[in-house]
Amino acid sequence: MNPVPAADTQDTPGTPDTFAGLYGRPAEGEWAAPGRVNLIGEHTDYNLGYVLPIAIPQTVRAQAARRDDGLLRLWSAQGRGPVTELRLADLAPGAVPGWSAYPAGVVWALREAGHRIGGADIRLDSDVPGGAGLSSSAALECVVATAYDDLYGLGLSGTELALLAQRAENAFVGVPCGIMDQMASMCCRPGAALFLDSRDVTMRQVPVDLAAAGLALLVLDTRVKHDLGDGAYAALRAGCERAAALLGLPALRSLDPAGLAGALSELPPELGPLVRHVVTENARVEAAVAHLDAGDPAAIGPILTAGHASLRDDYRVSCPETDLAVEAAVAAGAHGARMTGGGFGGSVIALVDAAGAEHVAAAVTAAFRAAGYREPRTLTAVPADGARRLA
Ligand code: ADP
Ligand code: MG
Repeated sequence: MNPVPAADTQDTPGTPDTFAGLYGRPAEGEWAAPGRVNLIGEHTDYNLGYVLPIAIPQTVRAQAARRDDGLLRLWSAQGRGPVTELRLADLAPGAVPGWSAYPAGVVWALREAGHRIGGADIRLDSDVPGGAGLSSSAALECVVATAYDDLYGLGLSGTELALLAQRAENAFVGVPCGIMDQMASMCCRPGAALFLDSRDVTMRQVPVDLAAAGLALLVLDTRVKHDLGDGAYAALRAGCERAAALLGLPALRSLDPAGLAGALSELPPELGPLVRHVVTENARVEAAVAHLDAGDPAAIGPILTAGHASLRDDYRVSCPETDLAVEAAVAAGAHGARMTGGGFGGSVIALVDAAGAEHVAAAVTAAFRAAGYREPRTLTAVPADGARRLA
């Protein structure tokens, strides 16, 4: 634990409504970084495979100003607490509790990488729903990384900042996530999906014009998050690594689909379905990109639904709520639907005709009501911009 008493200066924290009210001086700038939905390519990033996320319009925003006394001060409208004050010199993995670990971890990762940075006052606000599988954590990390890059003139690329943000989440917060979420938040562009190869962290922007095709992408937040999530994620990841090692591969990404049947016959039965999911999911990403390149986004619908079946039956990370949302959306006319994000709750995406969007959302809501579940929260996702300076 590193919180130290608030510095006894003119910037003793005050009203949190504005940066000046909080810190007693103006901000030097304001930055934003978005949440994301992944169109297809789930649990593939840490297997060094393909993913295809889009940024959503919802962002975490940071107003910030440098400090030269080695202090990092953080406040978030969603943090529901006073200003957290930390000494840069004391930042260490596991030392910062609660949400502050995400932004503090980014500052720690920048220092660890040898960048010459000082402290900062940071005020955060967000409209990315937290814990909904829309990656509010990566948005939080990436907005802080982007603000620091600008404030201290570091000149780092989006990919470099994403890798530092991932290191913050892995090593400082202690969540063993892959690289998708941070790359999506940093590098997505409006009107495009990010086709990312997680092995070498190279990417291509793939245009997605849903409106021109008469389509819309619904995001149905189930508002459930089953507890087994975190431990199960680590166990799945370990299972994939064990399977790759048994097959003599650096990662499951390296297994060609043509070699899948042979691989399955060699592996212990509990690992086979994991491998099948990863190999078929990578192929689904490539197929989805081909349809988008051909200007036929509706054709990715069945790929989404097949991806959900693979997550449900092979990877086993869906849950009754996400399964019901997918089933009800498809029954109501969606071209396809799947859970998005790590699983065990969170959000479902449904590719729908724009004209039928309300009907599909209403059908899912009715199905949830009939099952006795909380009503889902519905957003419409338009491929939006990645991390950027606002002011
Ligand atoms: P997801 O990334 O899918 O939203 P996570 O569990 O990975 O879910 O991250 C959610 C956590 O990120 C929250 O519990 C909180 O600690 C942190 N977080 C996200 N956004 C904010 C915010 N605006 N202010 C403070 N903490 C936030
Ligand atoms: Mg997260």
